[in-house]
Amino acid sequence: MGDNKNRFRIEGLSCANCAAQIEEELRTIPQVKDLTVEFATQSMHIELHDGQDIDATMAEAGRIASRIEPGTVFVPHQPLNQERQGRDEHNVRDLPVEIQDIVRLILGGILFVAAIFIPLTALLKRLLFGIAYILIGGDVVLIAVRNILRGKVFDENFLMTVATMGAFAINESAEAVVVMLFYQIGEIFQKIAVHRSRKSISELMDIRPDYANVWRDGSLLRVSPDEVLLGDRICIRPGEKVPLDGVVEDGEGFIDSMALTGESEPARVQKDDRIYSGSINLDGLLTVKVTTRFSESTVAGILNLVENATHKKAPTEQFITKFAKYYTPVVVFVAVLLAIAPPIFIDGEIFSVWLHRALVFLVVSCPCALVISIPLGFFGGIAAASRKGILIKGGQYLEALNKVDTVVFDKTGTVTEGVFEVSQIIPEEPFNQNELVEFASVAESHSSHPIAKSLRKAYPDVSVEGVTEYQDRSGAGVRAIWKGRVILAGNEFLMRSEGVNIPDRSSNGVESTATVLHIAVDGAYAGMITVSDRIKKGVSKTIDDLKKMGVRRTVMLSGDKKSVAESVASAVGIDEVHYELLPAQKVEVLESLQRNIAGSDISRKKNRKIIYVGDGINDAPVIARADIGVAMGALGSDAAIEAADVVLMDDDPEKLVQAIGVAKRTHGVVWQNIAFAMGVKLLVLLLGAGGLSGMWEAVFADVGVALIAILNAARLIRMPGEKYSKRE
Ligand code: ADP
Ligand code: MG
Repeated sequence: MGDNKNRFRIEGLSCANCAAQIEEELRTIPQVKDLTVEFATQSMHIELHDGQDIDATMAEAGRIASRIEPGTVFVPHQPLNQERQGRDEHNVRDLPVEIQDIVRLILGGILFVAAIFIPLTALLKRLLFGIAYILIGGDVVLIAVRNILRGKVFDENFLMTVATMGAFAINESAEAVVVMLFYQIGEIFQKIAVHRSRKSISELMDIRPDYANVWRDGSLLRVSPDEVLLGDRICIRPGEKVPLDGVVEDGEGFIDSMALTGESEPARVQKDDRIYSGSINLDGLLTVKVTTRFSESTVAGILNLVENATHKKAPTEQFITKFAKYYTPVVVFVAVLLAIAPPIFIDGEIFSVWLHRALVFLVVSCPCALVISIPLGFFGGIAAASRKGILIKGGQYLEALNKVDTVVFDKTGTVTEGVFEVSQIIPEEPFNQNELVEFASVAESHSSHPIAKSLRKAYPDVSVEGVTEYQDRSGAGVRAIWKGRVILAGNEFLMRSEGVNIPDRSSNGVESTATVLHIAVDGAYAGMITVSDRIKKGVSKTIDDLKKMGVRRTVMLSGDKKSVAESVASAVGIDEVHYELLPAQKVEVLESLQRNIAGSDISRKKNRKIIYVGDGINDAPVIARADIGVAMGALGSDAAIEAADVVLMDDDPEKLVQAIGVAKRTHGVVWQNIAFAMGVKLLVLLLGAGGLSGMWEAVFADVGVALIAILNAARLIRMPGEKYSKRE
């Protein structure tokens, strides 16, 4: 995050509508460049223009926010490398309602029942109803009045106040009280439901380790993970969270990395294995040498991603916020018409009857169900996905995953494991095998390409000192100067572009499906090393499943030669393959696929997305360019995490199918909620206009529907895991 971006926790934010309004008004502060308020996580992202002072801006923001919803406070978000105080990161208190509020409601309810059943004079009855009303809904009225004084009119409190006061006016006192009671009870249930979803979200996110046991001067100290230094030795006891990334030096045992990768099978680790922060040590006592500072650790990266995910709102979410802004005033306007027009223009119609109908309208006019439940739905989807080791960087990508038309895969490291085994070493005169291996290892010593890594692993003893110049020829190979000699190592394209002749006979006896590493020294061809890679298991099934989920076409891009690329693609059932591509050409192919899908039709472009799945090596530009860029193998590689919109925490392509599954469910729930809320409201509005539904139904259409929609959204958070794709 740059210096101008800040994150704040918002305390005391209880109304989703207010969140939307706060966002809108804060956006108009001149110092603010970009800003989002997220109700589900009670947080705010704010980005200032250069040179602006955050404290001054926040003072103003605080004033605006507390005008809109009294009691809201912005608290600076604790950066990950600071000790967290308590576990209320997402602002989860134990009970979202005050006891005295419940007592007031109960007392009011008793008075109400008394007023109905005890025979009293009409005047006394009204008095009792009046007291019950004040007990039950007094705070609503007060808030409404205060908001009006602050120039904020169409909120829920106002609508309820007008509707119930109106009922009193037309001598429907009992109805006024009951409607208010119903509304308040609904609000309480809503608060509890929202609270519980938030709590389960924050539990899902609870992968942050709280402490590390580190060896210092012969004794074991318990310190905060960010105080641990590179190279420190930490001790992890059974049942503890792994606090930092590192390599096991002593001990062995099983590690549960479910929260990181979604992998439910614990994995066995022993000496020299890497382990990742955020996973849990199940049974062994491990001594681990720390390889990464906490701020750059796996767990910090994930938390950052997830916390920032809600920042990018889905189009549906944005639409609903806009819609809500117009919906309420329109309904209120219709209500006024309804109260006035018929009695004036139609003979024999009575004002009080139409006023009652108009009041029903008012109660229904709050768009709360939508405003609360839809962001909650997207956030629930994102949280559920992260539980499976799928990090989705925003609601907009979660929504886009519903509309996948084409899935494009990179070959090395994505479809294949990216772990090469050396199979043949064929030197050219006058070099021998050892020299060829030495040249190759030296040239590749600075490369992060899987071929380079595999060579280093195969020949760990080759001394690679003395490299004076090194150049990465992205997607083709490398060029290095070593002891004054120019060494090239790479594919045919590299040789050709450097003017090196590959003798024809050299490829005799080489398997056509092996990747070939050609080596040249001082412009002369020195021979080749063939390496082969394995196709990941589960890729064919993934391709099948993608097809079943409605993906129309699968494509593979590779920088490798034709024979290798084609054999891999046909082995897993990929439809189309492009080979011998440099990184820039991969971008071109992707763009031409995009053009082919969309043609001149803009709506098609919106509804037919291209996913690109890569490992981030030589293909970060393609990941960035795709509609949805997916990075594989994130345990480790930073570049890919940065460029991608979706990160699959383990290298398993099957996760792609699960990600689309989560997206489809989220989409389903969100649209169920939209249809349900709008449907019920419309129905009650129509019936209300005809005098067929009263305030009871109207209150249900408001709070009842909101409650059901929230509960429906909450289902996403508890979405079952692994078996999803199989059940589809
Ligand atoms: P893919 O598109 O299959 O993922 P890359 O884009 O990573 O593959 O690389 C394309 C080709 O470029 C490889 O098949 C290899 O022949 C060559 N290449 C790239 N980097 C290197 C390197 N460091 N050493 C040797 N060959 C390389
Ligand atoms: Mg690649």
